[in-house]
Amino acid sequence: MKASDEHWMRHALDQAHEADASGEVPVGAVLVKDGVIIATGRNTPVASHDPSGHAEINALRAGAMALGNHRLDGCELFVTLEPCAMCAGAMLHARLARVVYGARDPKTGAAGSVVDLFGLHQLNHRTRVESDVLSDICGGVLKDFFKRRRLQARQTSQPLRDDALRTPETCFNGFIDQSAQSLWSVGGVIQRGWRMHWLDSSANAQGVPVLCLHGPGQWGYYFRNLMSMEKVRCLVPDLIGFGRSDKPKRDAIHEWNWHRDVVLEWLNILEVKPMFLAYARNAEPLVKLLMMEIPDLVDRDAIVSVPDARTGAIVNAWKAPFPDRGYEAALRALGPVDEASSGPSLEQAREVANDIASRAADTMGYCRP
Ligand code: ZN
Repeated sequence: MKASDEHWMRHALDQAHEADASGEVPVGAVLVKDGVIIATGRNTPVASHDPSGHAEINALRAGAMALGNHRLDGCELFVTLEPCAMCAGAMLHARLARVVYGARDPKTGAAGSVVDLFGLHQLNHRTRVESDVLSDICGGVLKDFFKRRRLQARQTSQPLRDDALRTPETCFNGFIDQSAQSLWSVGGVIQRGWRMHWLDSSANAQGVPVLCLHGPGQWGYYFRNLMSMEKVRCLVPDLIGFGRSDKPKRDAIHEWNWHRDVVLEWLNILEVKPMFLAYARNAEPLVKLLMMEIPDLVDRDAIVSVPDARTGAIVNAWKAPFPDRGYEAALRALGPVDEASSGPSLEQAREVANDIASRAADTMGYCRP
């Protein structure tokens, strides 16, 4: 192992994190020649609909393109996970000088774990192999990913109660923000087994945590522009009966008091505590109840009404959760779809985010003298 191996492996880890952020199994690679990175690659099989979209193949392709040569003589590849047979084969074809990997792969590793393609005497090209460079970190990234995915699978597989409906996810095509983390709360006693969907724009984990509440006839989509602002980290539930959450069939369940209690129960188990509360105008009844129940939920000055540009251009988004009348109990109980509503424009969202960020900075006392 060379001293610089860890250095290059950290660059490969950056690639793995990027794969993670786009929902791919987090494996990353960099191709190095004469002490310079000439190409990077990360796993993309899901996004590119390509079974060969492994980090190593992507890095080899980009490197060959950069050099204008399908032979990668003198190049070294750093990859966070032991290569599979396909990738090992490609490396041998490319006549790679050296491959350095992080974690071992006991299931498909082709550099010693399952087979060792690099050790076959019959092949005339030799690629040197180095293993276990930052292997704990490389393996940890994968373990975290699969742990999160199992948790997610458990939560999404929550059975649907007989007295509720669940809008097919395809109804939301075009309205789902891929950059935000989609989460499901199965709740406790108060939520009664109805599943609640919520979004965490945690790609901006540096931002000020803000609880965002939509009103009747809307759902988390109201806050899509605010969620794209880096200064805030939006925690956006679809209230039960709305958006992607379960739709209880009975109108009677939809009292604001109950919604308040569900929100409080959910906030209690949340790892991140909101510092601000942002709400759509028509969510006012819910916000008032919340503040009465817990005056210190957030500071009084930390409540922000989020303006509605009212272009009426997205009425299909408001109707998406309700494929037929059976789903509409919440609309009947709390108020219909507001066809003119559109949520804040990008400009309005930016103003809200800037306002929140500067007020948060004041509160923490590191901005003003
Ligand atoms: Zn592979």
